[in-house]
Amino acid sequence: EEAKKKRHIVMVPIMAQGHIIPFLALARQIQHTTTATFTITIATTPLNILHLQSAISSTSPNQIRLAELPFNSAQHGLPPNTENTEKLSVTQLVKFCHSTLSLEAPLRSLISRITEEEGHPPICMISDVFLGWVNKVANSMGTRNLTFTTCGAYGTLAYISIWLNLPHKKTHSDEFWVPGFPQSYRFHRTQLHRYLREADGTDDWSQFNIPQISHAMKSDGWICNTAEEIEPLGLHLLRKYLQLPIWAVGPLLPPAVLKGSRHRSGKESGVALEACMEWLDLKDENSVVYISFGSQNTISASQMMALAEGLEESAISFIWVLRPPVGFDVNGEFKEEWLPKGFEERMRDSKRGLLVHKWAPQLEILSHKSTGVFLSHCGWNSVLETLSYGVPIIGWPLAAEQTYNVKMLVEEMGVAVELTRSVETTISGEEVKKVIDIVMDKEGKGKEMKEKAKEIASDIRKAITEKGEEKGSSLRAMDDLVRTILS
Ligand code: UDP
Repeated sequence: EEAKKKRHIVMVPIMAQGHIIPFLALARQIQHTTTATFTITIATTPLNILHLQSAISSTSPNQIRLAELPFNSAQHGLPPNTENTEKLSVTQLVKFCHSTLSLEAPLRSLISRITEEEGHPPICMISDVFLGWVNKVANSMGTRNLTFTTCGAYGTLAYISIWLNLPHKKTHSDEFWVPGFPQSYRFHRTQLHRYLREADGTDDWSQFNIPQISHAMKSDGWICNTAEEIEPLGLHLLRKYLQLPIWAVGPLLPPAVLKGSRHRSGKESGVALEACMEWLDLKDENSVVYISFGSQNTISASQMMALAEGLEESAISFIWVLRPPVGFDVNGEFKEEWLPKGFEERMRDSKRGLLVHKWAPQLEILSHKSTGVFLSHCGWNSVLETLSYGVPIIGWPLAAEQTYNVKMLVEEMGVAVELTRSVETTISGEEVKKVIDIVMDKEGKGKEMKEKAKEIASDIRKAITEKGEEKGSSLRAMDDLVRTILS
């Protein structure tokens, strides 16, 4: 009992769905990995606790505890009950980031309480790269601190190095070198989000990102949601840059995805799921483009129009998850006027396109044999999911580290083409059609991309599979991580 008490891990994700879910997956994976009993506590704000409670109770019983960190968004000039990045404008998002600093005091109380109850501080705190301040808490309370970046290694390195060095500010050229990458590597100004392009070290974004990343770089090691086989370059460079141990334990995805079998979540078994599956069942193998920009992002009204025109001009079948364009509530009501006149009806009548509003069962769609390519914003979870099923990508990055993910998918992996980037570009239906034609081509580049994507899917499976004595790289990294935590 005494030994058990010593093994308490406290996890602190930033309050965004794309971070909380991988943190929960990491917690589960730690418990799967070892016979040593850990108590794992995920500490977050009340509304996020509610979501986590339902996510946890829907699966088998486990040892994951939830601890509430009181949070009052209104005190930070945000709408009441804002506890998640979803629905926030860019201006609100930076305020939200700064507001997370207010969690330090409640987190200190939680650690004190645990220390008092158990006679020891927790053995480890695993914190989000955006909550670098947790490192100060861990240091002063005698606990080890590891950073979990829910992104890939390449994207993480580009993201942190560009913020810390602001290399685009040191040149007038559109292209620039990013410290940490080989000298021959070039990034482009258009790969930077507007607020990063304008950052100068004193603006609100810099004032949050730079110190948080710097603190996180003082932690005892980093955990990445990726695998050695799929990101050899990214992991090599990140290790060199951070000079810290890095454990590539991913991809942390639902178990069905990892087996490569057709995914059935059960949870999403609503009309959308049935409709999507029935519709896909009628299509030929690899013939459908699945289009989604994730849970937080959306494109501009004129881009949406061009995308619809391009889809209509190419003879392609598609599933498109529709959200209102930039400037409107992403989760709000969709209006017909945002699409070409009669588009929805024509697509429905011809069964060419399935338009899904707000949310689609992405894993089920990607795992269906009719799905041939994913037009994606390249959020890291979407990237891992599509690669796990061997589905190549048309990239249209919009925010965060997505442009860097696409660069890697194109240049290092050869599984993607980039259609355009950001919401600021003007694109035409012809460009859309051209890219779709390339990727859907059963010969040439389209074929090559498909083969590479299949290879990566097989690498991913190897990384997370155990065959007799032999364990895949991500499982070995997980063993090593647990050993380190226990040491
Ligand atoms: N997702 C989904 N249906 C949708 C949109 C998103 O199931 O219509 C899921 C998707 O499978 C992924 C996550 O939401 O697991 C999105 O994470 P990602 O990192 O790709 O992008 P973000 O939403 O964080 O920008």
